[in-house]
Amino acid sequence: MNEFVERAIDLRWPAAIKPAYDVVIIGGGGHGLATAYYLATRHGITNVAVLERSYIGGGNSGRNTTIIRANYGIPEAVRFYQRSVDLYAHLEQETDRALMHKTKGLLWIAHSEAGIRQERARAAVNTACGATTEYVDPAAIGEICPQIDLTGGGVWPVYGASYHPAGSTARHDRVVWAYAEGAMRLGVDVFQRTGVIGLRMERGRVTGVETSQGPIAAGVVLSAVGGHVTTIASMVGLRLPIRTHPLQAFVTNRYAQAFHPIVASSGLGGYASQTAKGEMLIGAEIDRAPSYAYDSGYPFLQHCAFRMMTLLPFLRDLRVLRQWTGVCDMSTDYSPVMGLTGVDGFLVTTGWGTWGFKAIPAGGEQLAALIATGRTPDLIAPFSLDRFARDRTMADRGSAGTH
Ligand SMILES: Cc1cc2nc3c(=O)[nH]c(=O)nc-3n(C[C@H](O)[C@H](O)[C@H](O)COP(=O)(O)OP(=O)(O)OC[C@H]3O[C@@H](n4cnc5c(N)ncnc54)[C@H](O)[C@@H]3O)c2cc1C
Repeated sequence: MNEFVERAIDLRWPAAIKPAYDVVIIGGGGHGLATAYYLATRHGITNVAVLERSYIGGGNSGRNTTIIRANYGIPEAVRFYQRSVDLYAHLEQETDRALMHKTKGLLWIAHSEAGIRQERARAAVNTACGATTEYVDPAAIGEICPQIDLTGGGVWPVYGASYHPAGSTARHDRVVWAYAEGAMRLGVDVFQRTGVIGLRMERGRVTGVETSQGPIAAGVVLSAVGGHVTTIASMVGLRLPIRTHPLQAFVTNRYAQAFHPIVASSGLGGYASQTAKGEMLIGAEIDRAPSYAYDSGYPFLQHCAFRMMTLLPFLRDLRVLRQWTGVCDMSTDYSPVMGLTGVDGFLVTTGWGTWGFKAIPAGGEQLAALIATGRTPDLIAPFSLDRFARDRTMADRGSAGTH
């Protein structure tokens, strides 16, 4: 436990698991806890249990590179993520917790003619759908981020970029714990070290869960287990268009000179920002082979560090401090899957891949509305599971910060 959790927040742990809840949420990551929080705060539904098999935020919600943005590639995604950006902007005030939310601006660099077209298109679709993004030339890039080598080491020249002023970061574990605290304060039961090992079904409807602590009956069960969704869904015979891939990241030692924006490059397949402590935080692409392994490897580090150093030469003087891995629920169209599953009483929030931290507020808010009203809100209707059967996939490679 860190100092924030030990001292700064007021956690009301339940004494015992009740035999039945209106809603059982599997997974104590950002999406599960935000859904519980919005059920309680927006709909007055508090007979809710969140079951986490490990510890709160121990999954990807506590392992990500904390980037928040709405500069996606398709209108439906831009609108959805813009809602999350708006909710994040007031989350510190709403939860009364210091979440270290900081607006930095995000540069997405173009190194080729195709890259210029891509970034111009991103700026156009973003602006048309309510997220401000403009196309900027190398001179403007140099002003926004003087540390960028505009020659790209002679290999990856910088021709332009899209600039998204709303790009921001927030301290990931604080966000997760603030949602947990807010939900618990209103009576939601949150249990750690309580894994779901089976789903109970009666006459084609999911009626509860089997856990490591015994059975629990539920009106509705929501799976919010990140990369482990395939296992949970298979318990009711559901196959999802999801593959689980590891994603690695690393931080360097502290860098004194202020590095203000977030910088991403599809050409280099990586992105960088500076943490509040001063470390340079670098992320990249998923590992190609699907796996549930949390291994971190030297080949990733070498490949990613080499490429990012061509754009940001000052990185050469820094040292790698820490490297880690999460396992990501990658959907086949790079968009999330939220809502009804076709199995009565069973919902999912998944397909968050490498991009779901920024989606936590809007994802939680919209799923809570669906559970409370029984109607899928317009904002998330395009992301329902049946889109694959209806041939209405939401292809958006721009979901990953590296495309
Ligand atoms: C290295 C890395 C960098 C990333 N960078 C970014 C970024 O910059 N911006 C961004 O928006 N997104 C980013 N992401 C993605 C983002 O972190 C995830 O999409 C998001 O955190 C998913 O949240 P979640 O609540 O769905 O899943 P998780 O946070 O993974 O939570 C799922 C929880 O379910 C629990 N669980 C699993 N199985 C069971 C079970 N059977 N019973 C009970 N509990 C169970 C797990 O223990 C886990 O705690 C990154 C991810 C990684 C790995």
